[in-house]
Parts: sequence; C-alpha cells; structure tokens
Amino acid sequence: MAENTLMEKLVSLAKRRGFVFQSSEIYGGLGSVWDYGPLGVELKKNVKDRWWRAMVHARDDIEGLDAAILMHPKVWEASGHVAGFTDPLVDCKQCKNRFRSDDKRIKGTPGQPDAQCPVCGSKGTLTEPRLFNLMFKTFMGPVEEHASVVYLRPETAQGIYVNYQNVLNSSRQRVPFGIAQIGKAFRNEITPGNFIFRTREFEQMEMQFFVKPGTDEEWFEKWRAWRMEWHHSIGLTPAKLRWHAHGPGELAHYAKAAYDVEYEFPFGWQEIEGVHNRTDFDLGRHQEYSGKKMEYFDQAANERYLPYIVETSAGADRVTLTLMADAYREENVEGETRVVLGFDPGIAPIKAGVFPLVKKDGMPELADRIYHDLKPQFPVFYDDSGAIGRRYRRMDEAGTPFCITVDGETQTAQTVTVRARDSMTQERVAVDQLAAYLLPKIRAR
Ligand code: ATP
Repeated sequence: MAENTLMEKLVSLAKRRGFVFQSSEIYGGLGSVWDYGPLGVELKKNVKDRWWRAMVHARDDIEGLDAAILMHPKVWEASGHVAGFTDPLVDCKQCKNRFRSDDKRIKGTPGQPDAQCPVCGSKGTLTEPRLFNLMFKTFMGPVEEHASVVYLRPETAQGIYVNYQNVLNSSRQRVPFGIAQIGKAFRNEITPGNFIFRTREFEQMEMQFFVKPGTDEEWFEKWRAWRMEWHHSIGLTPAKLRWHAHGPGELAHYAKAAYDVEYEFPFGWQEIEGVHNRTDFDLGRHQEYSGKKMEYFDQAANERYLPYIVETSAGADRVTLTLMADAYREENVEGETRVVLGFDPGIAPIKAGVFPLVKKDGMPELADRIYHDLKPQFPVFYDDSGAIGRRYRRMDEAGTPFCITVDGETQTAQTVTVRARDSMTQERVAVDQLAAYLLPKIRAR
C-alpha cells in the first residue's frame, strides 16, 4: 500500500470509528492538536496502563510520581531548556511559511540565492536560520509581565529530578532505584505532522533510574533490553522495530549515550522511545541552580555521590499511533475488502462485541443479559443494528478480537457462537463458560 494512502486511511478510520478527532474541528481545527474519541481513549489508556504495570507495579525498585505541569521557571534555566531548547528555523519571505533548517525538502542553502522554498517554489526567499525556542510560555498570576512568565513543561523528566529527594526520603528506596511518571508535555513544534506522531500537546511516559556512577553503562544496557521487550509485549511486530544509536553529532549535550527505539512507519523509520544515559548532568545542574545538595549518601559504603541517571522516555500518543499503523490491514474476503485492526487482544480497546442474530425470538433479551454479565469484567460492545456481517466488519475495524452472537440455539442449548477476528472461525461456547473462555485470551501478555 502506498505510504500516504495508508496514513490517509488510518486518519479516516480513526475518525469513523472514534479513535482520534481533529481538535476544535468545527472551527477548522487547531494545528497538530488532536482529541481522542471513545475507542482512542481506551487504546491510549491501555498503553499507559501497560507501561505503568511494567515499570511501577511489576518492580520493587521504581516509584510512581505525578508532578504538576507548571514548574518554577528556574527549573528550565537549570535544565538548559531556556538557552538551548531551540530549533534553527528559516522563513520564506514570499509565502511566510516557516521550516526547520534541516527540512529535507529545502533545496540549496537557506539565506543564499540558490535556496528554494519547498512550498511556493520561490528562489532566494529563504532567510538565514534563526533559533526558535520550542517552549510554550504563559503568565502566572494577575500581572502579565516578564517576572510572572512560566512555561508549559516540554518534558516530564524535570518533575522527577526536582522530586528525587522527596521520593527517596518518603519511600524505602535506595540507589539504584527509579521514578516513573506519565503526563502531558507541550512543544511548539514547527514542523509537526503525520497525524498524532508529532503534536504540540502530547503525553510522555518517562522513567528516570538513579544509579551509582560506574554502574551506569550496565544499567543502560539492561534498560535497553527491557524497553524493547515491552514494545514486543504490547504486540508490535518485532521486525518493524530497531535500535538507532545516536552518533557524536546527534548526542544531546547532557548525554553520554543515547539509543532510540525506532518503528518502521509508512513514512519511514522514526523514533518512538529514547533511552539515554544522562550522567549526573541533571542533578548537578539542579544542585547548582537551587543551591540545595542533591547528593546521595550510601550508608553501607559510607560515601556520598551524585547519582547518574538512565532515562527511558516514550510518547503515549506515538506508541498509540504505532499500534494502529502496525495493526492495520486489508484483506480480500469473498470479493470484498475487509479492513482489520489486528490489535493484540490485551491492548484492544473493546474485547468483545455482543450481538443478537435477529431482533426477535427473545434473542435481544438474551444478548443483553450476556452483555451486562460481561461488562463489569472487561469492555464489551452491544450491537443489534444491521446485518450480522456488517456488525462483524465494524468490530474488525475497531480491532475487537471476539464477537459473541446469540442465535436460535442459544435458548435451547444455552450456547452462543464466538467468532475470532483474525481467523473468522466460530466456536460454540456455553453461555455460563463465556467469561472463562475469553479471559485467558484477552489477558495482557
Ligand atoms: P523528535 O526527534 O521526534 O522530536 P525527541 O528526540 O525530541 O523527538 P525526546 O525529547 O527524546 O524526543 O522525547 C521522548 C519521546 O517523547 C519521543 O520518543 C516521542 O515518543 C515523544 N515525543 C517527543 N516529542 C513529541 C511530539 N511533539 N509529539 C508526540 N510525541 C513526542
């Protein structure tokens, strides 16, 4: 399938089935801001729940945190974001569009007569690159003056660093240990796009692991292995995932080593998560800017040191898009195209559809009873409208792994059919065994 076509199809399916809508659509939309509909919010919540379970609940050495979006402005000076969180941008004087200076579509050198604007095609109209800060600014309190400027956080990590001692002092943790957080981040991205791949408001799932200097490289490798395993565990195709190591020119100023987990999207291999060895840069800077000691005292060894940090940083929206792109397929079934989102059942937003075959002979009542029995246990969807084949197709598009149909035999034999999304085969299952039959199949791996 052509690349663009697949993305266009995903965007349209996402809207049709209620995964993702354009923000403020009735007003023409807001650039690169998206809203999650009923199915999208479930899918993204499953991503976040799976991450939280793997990172916090399943481990003894990680604590959770939920820090505020607004932070003291000094945080962003200490972190380097005020001075350095910038993209070099060029403007076209002709059409007024703005681009990142490394935009591959630009021909020639911006600022020189040979440079050509990728939008209007004019030559020599692109300015020299200028630095543009990606942080959103706002004002706190009643006065709009410089002193009251605060930023919407561009990453969640800083909330973890400034709370590292609070967590240490209030929990039983000792280095090595980690703090995990899921939350919104904001970046005034200049070349956003590709649907929910790069947006201006997004959610990050970040974990900072504090280790003794000298053990950082070993922990870094462990975290790389665990994070890749996690991406496999949510059902992504392993052959479409790979590591990209940051070379010397790419490495952020704070990092000793950085690897990205990349996924092969229809628009090419792109980062979905970063694993970084941030050294003692962050705690060192906060120590310097706040004047507060950030050292760790190791009682057993009677020594003090600034811990090194191994960070894992993934985007919840980007992983959600990855799941959708990975799951999308079209099949030819008896001359018709069947569109399927083949999600792993553990991550699928709805686990089962419940249908009466026809709207008579007591079937709706039986189906309704089954629906209400299952609903407290996992997400199910009741549908009695239209031909049964169309109802199956709607559930295929929603990525629902099973469909339960009440038919003529249900009343007498107390059984229903259970149709599997991928094989499209049906099995007869006793009504009182339905939950026991489905639960192991829809459990997260
Ligand atoms: P990119 O090079 O794609 O801009 P980055 O290297 O700036 O990403 P990080 O700062 O390492 O990204 O952020 C960690 C993760 O947060 C990314 O792997 C991605 O999943 C997510 N993320 C970052 N920026 C955005 C964005 N604008 N929209 C959606 N997700 C994002």
